[in-house]
Amino acid sequence: MPKNDPARTEPTRGCAACRARLPLAELIRFAHDGERVVVDLDRRLGGRGVNIGPARSCLEQAIKRGAFQRGFKRPLPPEQARMLFDVLGRAFITRLASYVESSRRSGAVVDVERAGEVEPPELRAVFEASEGALLGVPVPRVRVTSARAAARVAWLARGVSEFTFDIAGGMRRRPEAPVPCARARGGRTPSEK
Ligand SMILES: [Zn+2]
Repeated sequence: MPKNDPARTEPTRGCAACRARLPLAELIRFAHDGERVVVDLDRRLGGRGVNIGPARSCLEQAIKRGAFQRGFKRPLPPEQARMLFDVLGRAFITRLASYVESSRRSGAVVDVERAGEVEPPELRAVFEASEGALLGVPVPRVRVTSARAAARVAWLARGVSEFTFDIAGGMRRRPEAPVPCARARGGRTPSEK
């Protein structure tokens, strides 16, 4: 097998929540900037990192099981934990847009005429469900021409759909934070007066 064969040399790590081992490029890395947990989709930030699989269920479990507190050796305030879903969704949206923009220069992606020509399918699904824009950020109408860029765009597009909306249901934006529940806070609902 050649020395630079990606299947052989690609390093893997375990998801901090479900322990599944995945290639580094498929994991979501979080770092800590001293004040809060930040998303490090390009794995460029220094310091300690926490890796999770690219799924809502992994983020939910990581929060529930204290993976961020363990990984960063700091507390994770509940309001920061709640915001992580939204922070992650926005990070995926902006990274997808900037990745495609920079890939245009190298020819790894090309613009297409019709929405039906958008490739890979993960990007087309996001494009169609969002009608071309997410939170004001345009979803590019492009076709990817290199296998490497296709894999990255597909991963970013899946992240967008996983953390911002349900593609099957169209643009159903998930709430920014869970709706406060009167019952959970010890309050009473109107019918209990
Ligand atoms: Zn996981």
